[in-house]
Amino acid sequence: MHLHLTAEDAAFQQQMREFFTTQVPQDLRQRWAAGGEPSADDMRQAQRILNEAGLAVPHWPVEWGGKEWSQLQRHIYLQEMQDASVPPPLAFNANMVGPVIAAFGSQELKERFLPPTANLDIWWCQGFSEPNAGSDLASLRTSAVLEGDEWVVNGQKTWTTLGQHADWIFALVRTEPDAPKKQMGISFLLIDMKSPGVTVRPIQLIDGGHEVNEVFFENVRVPADQLVGERGQGWTYAKFLLGNERVGVAPVGSIKRRLADAKSYAAATRDGNGSLLDQPLVAARIAELESQVAALELTVLRVAGNSKEGKPDPVSSILKLRGSQLQQDVLELIADIAGPASLEWKRGDDSETEAWAALATPTYLNFRKASIYGGSNEVQRSVIASAILGLKG
Ligand SMILES: Cc1cc2nc3c(=O)[nH]c(=O)nc-3n(C[C@H](O)[C@H](O)[C@H](O)COP(=O)(O)OP(=O)(O)OC[C@H]3O[C@@H](n4cnc5c(N)ncnc54)[C@H](O)[C@@H]3O)c2cc1C
Repeated sequence: MHLHLTAEDAAFQQQMREFFTTQVPQDLRQRWAAGGEPSADDMRQAQRILNEAGLAVPHWPVEWGGKEWSQLQRHIYLQEMQDASVPPPLAFNANMVGPVIAAFGSQELKERFLPPTANLDIWWCQGFSEPNAGSDLASLRTSAVLEGDEWVVNGQKTWTTLGQHADWIFALVRTEPDAPKKQMGISFLLIDMKSPGVTVRPIQLIDGGHEVNEVFFENVRVPADQLVGERGQGWTYAKFLLGNERVGVAPVGSIKRRLADAKSYAAATRDGNGSLLDQPLVAARIAELESQVAALELTVLRVAGNSKEGKPDPVSSILKLRGSQLQQDVLELIADIAGPASLEWKRGDDSETEAWAALATPTYLNFRKASIYGGSNEVQRSVIASAILGLKG
């Protein structure tokens, strides 16, 4: 097993590093690194810079802007992007709906949607989950009934991330209520958020931010040709999409950057005659996390290096599980280093609390989400048990 980069991959890494650190404005990257609520304009600007250089959708088919990179190159690209604090291309566009349209959409849908999706001229959101249909997604009830050449959609989606910025939603809808299995009655529909009858209602989160929404559909009329692929095949497309969603799920670059931040915060925090970094318990916790992150990074590299092209690998469940846990552990460490200062939460202009300390607790609480979205960690454990360990439930 070789776990070092070849000369070619090292040169590729250098090329990515140089692009991200010189072509994406530093102030934008600093805002992203600081955390807090992401600015939609920053995300648009970053994605357009990447797209202009052919770096927004490298995993799409070449015809639509893809690069035919190896999984390892894709990993290096993501790692360098996170390391330079560049906002990644919007996942709903780049990793979710784009690949589905490219793989299953008609030529007309591809030409209409793929270029603006790559350039974030269309901001997509994901309309899968519903009340009572999250992990058990196939229980979804939002219905679409064909009337002439239009689908009439009624129902509700929930947890719709960044839906407040979205121009379009890709939704799973029930088109065959009498299908013998609930998975067989679902279709994949593209809906303009400006259509009459669409209502977006914010859900306020524990960190005080507005990141997710409820979306209601009341007799929303959708042109029939905005159904992707075949009617009733939405479950197949959703599985394809979710497989892609979990690729690159362990944000190793971001975790390493946050851990390095944690170390410098500890070094800057006075404690008795020295700093928090001199405290054996703090130092041991950092060392433990550093070795865990190094183990995750090696695992990601090994998986990326051995991955069979185009096949969602059940190992991605391990990466999702460990990645989300370590991300949470590092954010908990930062909140602990901040101590009581992290309880200030909303920092006023005249506050003496440092920005990172005031953000520590809301950020820690916000990232509890990482073990739920993209398939909850309990469900990932079931996948690992059955698909990797061969255990029968
Ligand atoms: C911040 C955030 C953003 C999200 N963004 C989006 C989005 O943009 N679009 C979208 O469509 N959805 C989104 N989701 C929804 C997300 O995919 C679901 O929350 C997730 O699939 C879990 O579903 P649920 O919330 O209905 O919980 P449930 O499925 O009701 O699960 C509740 C608990 O039971 C456990 N559980 C459920 N089934 C099993 C099982 N078979 N075995 C063991 N344990 C089980 C779960 O792990 C969990 O702990 C988002 C969620 C969050 C938190």
